[in-house]
Amino acid sequence: MPPKADLIAVFNAGSSSIKFALCAASPDEALRARGEIEGLGAEPRLTVRSAGGATLIERAWPAGGLDHHAATRTILSIMDGLEAGASVVGVGHRVVHGGTRYAAPVRIDAAVLQALTELVPLAPLHQPHNLAPIRAIAAHAPALPQVACFDTAFHRGQASVVQAFALPRALSGEGIRRYGFHGLSYEYIVSRMREIAPALAGARLIIAHLGNGASLCAVAGGRSVATTMGFTAVDGLMMGTRTGTIDPGVILYLMDRHGMDVRAVENLIYRESGLLGVSGIASDMRTLRASSDPNAAEAIALFVHRIVCEIGSLAAALGGVDGLVFTAGIGENDAATRAEVCAGCAWLGLALDGARNRKGGGRISTDGSRIEAWVVPTDEERMIARQTLRLIPQA
Ligand code: ADP
Repeated sequence: MPPKADLIAVFNAGSSSIKFALCAASPDEALRARGEIEGLGAEPRLTVRSAGGATLIERAWPAGGLDHHAATRTILSIMDGLEAGASVVGVGHRVVHGGTRYAAPVRIDAAVLQALTELVPLAPLHQPHNLAPIRAIAAHAPALPQVACFDTAFHRGQASVVQAFALPRALSGEGIRRYGFHGLSYEYIVSRMREIAPALAGARLIIAHLGNGASLCAVAGGRSVATTMGFTAVDGLMMGTRTGTIDPGVILYLMDRHGMDVRAVENLIYRESGLLGVSGIASDMRTLRASSDPNAAEAIALFVHRIVCEIGSLAAALGGVDGLVFTAGIGENDAATRAEVCAGCAWLGLALDGARNRKGGGRISTDGSRIEAWVVPTDEERMIARQTLRLIPQA
């Protein structure tokens, strides 16, 4: 019998849920299990599934039965018990914001935790929840190495002009600049492209991460050159419930004429807009595709229009495009959105192969297309496990 591998735990904590994954602490970071505790703050429910998708554990708690700290301890003890003889030797966390300081993953100590806490004002809806499991593990298992993996880090090598807003210098100096997000997904896609299309991986790519949150990233030579999300994750593309880029004059008008305060505007631009707001039906692409309501069609048309326009902008930032890669829930699964986006990119020299696109997976452009189009599934948990593995001492 080969010795049991050590394990890396991956945490992705949000306001009401903690997603987690368990990977082998070996160079292939093989997935062993993944799961989620949902309903934190309400009636928490836990599900753990095997790598193959079979349900391994289900549990529920009464209302208020579990906070983020207790949930973290529960997840860790379940992970430790999943494979006899194997134990968790390191924990990687998805942390949305690394500010200007963290351009790479970092081992967490008290000073790092303090620095990450100081970034809470830059991402008040996400950062505090990302940090909660870190604190819980530091208190509960202080010897367990923890690593913070950032959504912003991949973009930190962009030229300074790309990261700047046209604001007075004092405000830019305070950190009001473009950061960009979804960096773990983009870095994973670049690493996959190196394996499946090495020549393209080093060329000029636009990666379209189209999920509930959606953004595009221009990548040259494997590095981020520009991206559509900015100071926050509400910028850029239209999303499930977020506006994406909006004339700031609209916000001023709403505050002035509708008496909206900060929280009301926040709710509007993060939770009530996007596909949900325009369709008046749902934020979920599957529901909109299945609907015959013209408002659903209009929401999808606007979603696609914004993607096509932003691809044009990123093509300019790159000075040309060699490949377009679709990923995340919509990008990986919705052939119709891919076809509509590619039709809008015909002027760039992109020719879609309809049959390949309907099949999905791999290259979906024609053999003669000047620009290649690909579908590549993302795996942010695996990227976090990989980054964590690099920074922990043994394994
Ligand atoms: P998140 O940003 O929450 O991780 P996902 O990457 O899971 O989001 O993407 C969720 C989106 O993917 C939803 O709009 C959903 O409708 C869409 N999606 C998932 N599967 C399909 C499918 N088979 N066809 C069309 N859209 C899909």
